[in-house]
Amino acid sequence: MSDIDQTRLADGPPAGPGSHTSVSTTGSGWLSSSGSIDHGRFEPGAVVDGRYRIIGLLGRGGMGEVYRADDLRLGQAVAIKLLPDALSADPQRLVQFHNEVRTARQVSHPNVCRVYDIGDLLVDGSTPPRHQLYLTMEYVDGEDLSSLLRRIGRLPEDKALEIARQICAGLGAAHAKGVIHRDLKPANIMLDSAGQARLMDFGLATVGAVSEIRAGTPAYMAPEQLSGTAVTVQSDVFALGLVLYELFTGRRGFQAKTLGELVELHQTGAVLPPSALVSGLNPAIERVILRCLRSDPADRPASALAVSAALPGG
Ligand code: ADP
Ligand code: MG
Repeated sequence: MSDIDQTRLADGPPAGPGSHTSVSTTGSGWLSSSGSIDHGRFEPGAVVDGRYRIIGLLGRGGMGEVYRADDLRLGQAVAIKLLPDALSADPQRLVQFHNEVRTARQVSHPNVCRVYDIGDLLVDGSTPPRHQLYLTMEYVDGEDLSSLLRRIGRLPEDKALEIARQICAGLGAAHAKGVIHRDLKPANIMLDSAGQARLMDFGLATVGAVSEIRAGTPAYMAPEQLSGTAVTVQSDVFALGLVLYELFTGRRGFQAKTLGELVELHQTGAVLPPSALVSGLNPAIERVILRCLRSDPADRPASALAVSAALPGG
């Protein structure tokens, strides 16, 4: 996984270990270093913050580790995401983060992973005492779209259409509440056990900094987000276009290895039409995907719901 594929905080390179590297177990005392199974910071069975019993590590991304846990108080499954230390250390960013969570909690939609709460846990044995910020959310039993596409390639057109509509619906619902995702990508979309798409991590990219608007994952960022000009609903629509591109073709819309290459691809508009990869693809699908990828935000569809409406049968 290269840097442009990872969620990054606004201040610099992607934070934390990549999902394919092993966790560093030295120097911080409270990490367990034994055994070959990578449990992350918490072993299964550990009770976090007196309330959540860890079941296991679900994954690791640009921000930190995500665990499956049981909420012992309410007797429910939850997912716990550990947040970067840099966030807790910056009061301004913390305020911004609280605002994001406050807003994200208002989004209730079958295609959006529900955000529950945030908390603070004291890191075992740390001197001076150190607090770790975490977020609890709905546990989604399923697979993220990025690993699914890696496993099976593209989805058949009818299934892809169904998923595409659900993604548009979830994104539209969040936009209606004034939440911009900023980091929409296949790794942030899960298919739950019922096969329903769930959008994850709304607004979390902004925990990077208050004034920085470039937080997110470069490979899926709209040109205006990448250049730091503006982030709007239209920037999410651009990322949506790239997600749909991958859903229908199994391939990345922009195949860049570096940020420079990516910027150049954006500028030249050099995207291979999906029909060049998938013969017989419905032209309406291709048309709306390519419109999402226009470099001028004003040329893109006005909303996620407009994208859905432009899809065949919409
Ligand atoms: P990324 O930066 O790639 O989005 P995350 O830190 O958000 O990474 O998540 C890492 C992995 O953990 C995801 O790819 C997903 O497989 C898993 N995951 C994240 N949130 C949840 C959740 N609420 N329920 C189940 N699995 C989750
Ligand atoms: Mg994520």
